[in-house]
Amino acid sequence: MSNIPVKILDDIADAIHERDNIYIASHIQPDGDNIGSILAMGLALLELNKNVFVLKSDIIPSDYLFLPGIEIIKEYKEITDLDLFIILDCSDIDRLGINKNLINKANFVINIDHHVTNTNFGGLNFVDSKAAATGELVFRIIEKLNIKFTKEIATNLYTAISTDTGSFKYESVTDKTHEIIAKLLRCGIDHSYINNKLYHSRSLERTNLLIESFLTLNTLADNKAAIVKVTQKMLNRTKTKMEDTEGIISFVRDIDSVEVACLLKEIDDKETKVSLRSKSYIDVAKICEPFNGGGHIRAAGCTIYEDIGTSEKLISNILTEVFR
Ligand code: 5GP
Ligand code: MN
Repeated sequence: MSNIPVKILDDIADAIHERDNIYIASHIQPDGDNIGSILAMGLALLELNKNVFVLKSDIIPSDYLFLPGIEIIKEYKEITDLDLFIILDCSDIDRLGINKNLINKANFVINIDHHVTNTNFGGLNFVDSKAAATGELVFRIIEKLNIKFTKEIATNLYTAISTDTGSFKYESVTDKTHEIIAKLLRCGIDHSYINNKLYHSRSLERTNLLIESFLTLNTLADNKAAIVKVTQKMLNRTKTKMEDTEGIISFVRDIDSVEVACLLKEIDDKETKVSLRSKSYIDVAKICEPFNGGGHIRAAGCTIYEDIGTSEKLISNILTEVFR
């Protein structure tokens, strides 16, 4: 996290104080940072007695259903009086999915994010690509607003930061990250319970999917790159859903020779979702650029509108080039 200019925090605090009907949303295919951040922000603004609407943009993976306040994430049929729209952890408007059109209905938009590829679409843009998680930025805003960090808010922020840093392991982690976590621990959160829920609760079905996907493991460039696939057939066989692929890619990256790990998910016969991770020197956000994707240097994604076999060939060719 870089040194945050005081001005942006002041401006965000002013924008929040001036408005009452506040909507909060994040990207499709939600992850821990996105859900933890919108919940922490939503719960904090409720403490200020604002009318808060936390919008659901997609199915919430079961890992996160234990989070306090999860029930405030809802779909709203009719949305009026959108005084303020706060968008968290979302690099561009398209990633808002069904909530994308609300941008035009909102009187004011605040964009809070840490993706390098953020398009600065807000009236106020608090974008810090050095932040390890959007949760760190939400922490700063709640602190600025002088709102008490309840156990519920702290649990959500801990989840946001822990999940986006691989449990505080990635190079994006700084002394400031640990200072924030120390403050959250002082709020009485049960980090052991949170970690058990997040990382040690894989169902047998999901374990079977992990095994099946690893049977497709393919390595290239002297084993510096590795690809695994998840197809619709595998999901059927293991009685799992696409969101159950969460975590598979970390196992691919864990292979000692691997610098770039790739997971290919078959959405249908003309659409493949690509996830990429790197360990220490390859910028995977760049690899996603030709496919209009993005993310971070060590974690990025895109969609290729081809079948999974063709997509694998395209990605394999790029990876071979990257390591040449
Ligand atoms: P994941 O592989 O977990 O889906 O995503 C890894 C990172 O890349 C996340 O930060 C996510 O927001 C970003 N990402 C994944 N898919 C896309 C995409 O299609 N477009 C953009 N801009 N970012 C993506
Ligand atoms: Mn994030």
